[in-house]
Amino acid sequence: GTKGKGSQFCVIGLGRFGSSLAKELVHLGHEVLGIDRSEELVDDMSSLLTHTVCADSTDEEALRSLGIRNFDCCIVAIGGDIQASIMTAILVKDCGVKKVVVKAVTELHGRVLEKLGADRVIYPERDMGIRVAHQLVSPNLLDYIELSSDYSVAELSVPQCLSGKTLADIDPRKRYGCSIVAVNKPNGVIIAPKAEQVLEEKDIMVIIGTNDGIESFEKDVS
Ligand code: ADP
Repeated sequence: GTKGKGSQFCVIGLGRFGSSLAKELVHLGHEVLGIDRSEELVDDMSSLLTHTVCADSTDEEALRSLGIRNFDCCIVAIGGDIQASIMTAILVKDCGVKKVVVKAVTELHGRVLEKLGADRVIYPERDMGIRVAHQLVSPNLLDYIELSSDYSVAELSVPQCLSGKTLADIDPRKRYGCSIVAVNKPNGVIIAPKAEQVLEEKDIMVIIGTNDGIESFEKDVS
């Protein structure tokens, strides 16, 4: 699978997003082929990735000769040139790559990519904008993951007003319909903490629940 160690990834487009993604995959222990039509970018990345190739990804022959179909996952990270993004996505999909992830710049671009059969469409700028907005509005929010349109998991730092209280004192399940599923303390993580678990300022709690519930919890404690 693409989650195991040593998977083979192909990143097409080594702009700001693609190069950062590719470097992080290498950092996580995976093999990465980076492709870009810009010779300069390929040169810059050649010592950082497993392999780099200067090629035009809208050239079907070039893609085939690189053996794209043998990769576990291919990420198309072309933003500015929507035509190149769409053409690359369909060519890579037709090669038979198991998992094709494509970066979209607009909702419409994303809808086209979904219709072409992209396995996952990502919107880095849109999602980062949303994430940063949440963090600006609620200073205790460190990060959150949307599970569905109604439910999320959020990482919150324990504010001073909750320091010394137990989970039973706070009772988030009853008050907010949320559960604290983990508490990260300086000396380790407590998974599925018990009701008598005491929170201290600067601990990090991981909370799961409805978006509304998490929001009111955040508001009440900040
Ligand atoms: P970012 O916002 O992440 O920097 P860009 O859209 O600016 O994204 O960068 C996309 C990269 O994709 C650029 O480096 C560009 O050279 C590359 N690219 C665009 N079209 C092609 C193509 N047909 N084949 C290969 N690389 C391409």
